[in-house]
Amino acid sequence: MAKQTHEFQAETKELLDLMIHSIYTNHEIFLRELISNASDAIDKLHYESLTNQDLLEGDDEYEIFLVPDAASHTLTISDNGIGMNEKELVENLGTIAKSGTKAFMEQLKKAKEGEAKDDKEMIGQFGVGFYSAFMVAEKVTVLTRKAGEKQAYKWESAADGSYTIEEAEKEKHGTSITLTLAKGFYGDDAEENYTDTYKLEGLVKKYSDYVRYPIKMNFTFEETPKDKDGKPIEGAEKVKRTELRTLNSMQPLWTKNKSEIKPEEYNAFFKNQFHEWEDPMEVFHTKAEGTTEYTALLAIPAHAPFNLYYADYEPGLQLYSRHVFIMDKCKDLLPSYLGFVKGLVDSPDLSLNISREMLQQSRELKVIGRALEKHILKALAKKLKNKRDWYETFWGEYGKSLKIGVYNTMYSGASDTRDALKDLLLFTSSRENKLTTLKEYVDRMPESQKKIYYATAKDQETIEHLPQLETLKDKGIEVLYLTDPVDEFCITTLHEYDGKAFHSISQGDLDLEDAESQEVKKETEKLQKDNGDLMKDVKDVLGDKVADVKISSRLKSSAVCLVADEQGPSLSMEQTFKNMDNPMFKAKRILEINPHHALFTKLQSLHDAGKDSQDFKDYCGLLYDQALLIEGILPDNPAEVANKLAELMAK
Ligand code: ADP
Repeated sequence: MAKQTHEFQAETKELLDLMIHSIYTNHEIFLRELISNASDAIDKLHYESLTNQDLLEGDDEYEIFLVPDAASHTLTISDNGIGMNEKELVENLGTIAKSGTKAFMEQLKKAKEGEAKDDKEMIGQFGVGFYSAFMVAEKVTVLTRKAGEKQAYKWESAADGSYTIEEAEKEKHGTSITLTLAKGFYGDDAEENYTDTYKLEGLVKKYSDYVRYPIKMNFTFEETPKDKDGKPIEGAEKVKRTELRTLNSMQPLWTKNKSEIKPEEYNAFFKNQFHEWEDPMEVFHTKAEGTTEYTALLAIPAHAPFNLYYADYEPGLQLYSRHVFIMDKCKDLLPSYLGFVKGLVDSPDLSLNISREMLQQSRELKVIGRALEKHILKALAKKLKNKRDWYETFWGEYGKSLKIGVYNTMYSGASDTRDALKDLLLFTSSRENKLTTLKEYVDRMPESQKKIYYATAKDQETIEHLPQLETLKDKGIEVLYLTDPVDEFCITTLHEYDGKAFHSISQGDLDLEDAESQEVKKETEKLQKDNGDLMKDVKDVLGDKVADVKISSRLKSSAVCLVADEQGPSLSMEQTFKNMDNPMFKAKRILEINPHHALFTKLQSLHDAGKDSQDFKDYCGLLYDQALLIEGILPDNPAEVANKLAELMAK
C-alpha cells in the first residue's frame, strides 16, 4: 500500500486549529490525555484477552513507556494495548465522535471571543483527548498494530488539514505516539521542556499517579565510577548509567483511605476516568465488608448529559475485581433510573474469568447493586434535609430520573425503592413559586382536606389558567402542578401518600369536605335534576365526543370545562400517549357546564326554543371546543370551529 493522504473531517480541522492557536496555557495536560488513552487501550486488550488469550502474543506485563529524546526533540508515549488497524485509525484519529469535544469547542470559541468569564479556569476542566498533542507538537506520528493482526500502520499529521497513513512494521502490538515538539517545548532554555525526564516524572505524578499500569521511563545519570568501598575514584572519567523507573504509584484512588483523599483528587480522578469536563456535583466513596465485599466510587456529574433520556445513552459503572479492570459499562449494577450516576465498583468477589453474560446473572452483582442504590437514596435524603439548595439544583438536573424510578416500581414491584423515592420528589404548587415535598404539602393540609390535589398541563402557565383551579385556589387549597408527562405516571404509581389519595382537579368529583362545598354539592345535584333534559340533549348533540354532560360545581368564571372520569386515564395522559403515537388510551371525557354563567342561561333559552334548532347545536359544539382549548387540546377541525365562531360573532 502506498502512502495515502486523508483530509480531516471539518470539525476535527476546527478543533486542531483551536488547539494550535489556543489561548490555552495549560499545555501540560496533553501527557495526561495520551497516557489515559494508552491505559484505556490496555484495558480493552485485557478485556478481550479474557476470552482470547492469543491476543497477548506472549506478553507478560502491560506497560506504558515514555521515551524523551532531547537530540531529536521528540517525546514518545507507547503502550502494549489493543492497537488500531487502518479502519480504526481513520475513524478514531480523523474524526471527532465525542459530544464532549463539541461542547468543549463551543466553550473554547466563546472563551476566545472573550464571552466566557473565567476562561482559563473553565478550559482547564476539559479533557480533549488525542488532539491535545497538537498543543505542544508540530508533528504527531502514530505507529500502531492491532493485537491479533499482522499489519502495522503509520499515521502522521502536521495538523495542516490532512494526515497520511501508510503500512509499517511494528514488532509489538499496541501504539507508539511520537510528538515532534514545537518550539518552546524542548531544549534546556525552553519554558516547558517536555524532553526533561524530571519534568515528565512530575507530570505523571501530578496527573496520572493512579493509572493502574506501570508508566516507565529510563533515567540517565552521569557518575564518577566508585571503588569497591563505594567511594568515588578520584580523577576517573564519568560514565553514563541508565536506570529504568516506574513513575506512578499505581495505587488506585479508591483503594486509599477516604480520610487521605482530598476533594480535588476525587474531582481530578473523576474527570480523568470518565472523560468529564466539570467537577461532579457529589462523590460517594463507600466500602462494604462482610459476605459481599466491595468498594465503590460513584459520582453525580454536575450536569445531566443531553441524551440521558434517549435510547442512545449508555448507562453503567466500571467494574473491577481486585483493582483489575473487567468492564466499562456494566448496566446491571444500578437500576436504570440511576443511569446518570457514574463511577466504578471494585469487588474481590467477582470472578475475573467469567463472561459478560454470566456476570449479568451474578448474584454478587445484584447484592452490590441493591446496596449502592440504597446508599445513593439515603445520601439524597440527607441532602434534601440538610442542603436544600444543593438538592434543588440536583432536582433540576435529575428530578425526572427519580420520577421515572417511581414509575418503574409499578412493574418491578420494588416497594422499598418506591418508599424511599416518594420522599425525594419535589413539585411546584399553587402555594408559592417554590418546590415542595409531598410531606411538606401534607403537613400544610387543613383538617377538612382529605386528598392531595394536582393539576396537569404542558406548562405552569396553562395550569394557572385552568378553570378547574379557581375554586380550589379561592378556598386556599394547595394544588400540585404536574407539567412533565412523567409526573402523572409517577403520581398514579404512588396512588397515595401518607394515607392520602392523589386526586386530579380535572378528574371525577373533587370530594371537598368543607361545609360550603357540601352546600354547593347539594345545590349542584338539584340543578342537575332540574336540567336533566338539557344535559341529555347537549350530550345527544355531542354524540360520542363525550361520555357525559354535567352541571359543574368546580367552576367560577369559566363557562365550561372538561374533566375525565375518575376511572380510566386523564386527558393529559391521553395526550401523552397520543404524542407517543400510541392512541391506545382514551380518557372518558365529561363536559361540565357552569350553572352560574350567562352562557348557561342562554343555552337554556335556546333549548326551550327547540332542541333541534341549528343554533342550539352550534352552541353545544362550540362549548365543547372551548373546553378543549382550555385544556390546550386542538379541536379535530380548527377551521370549522373558527368559521362557526365568526358566524356567531357576526350575528
Ligand atoms: P477519547 O479517548 O475520549 O475517545 P481521543 O480523541 O483521545 O478520544 O481518542 C479517540 C480514539 O482513538 C479513542 O477512543 C481510541 O479508540 C483511539 N485511541 C487513541 N489513543 C489510542 C491508543 N493509544 N491505543 C489505541 N487506541 C487509541
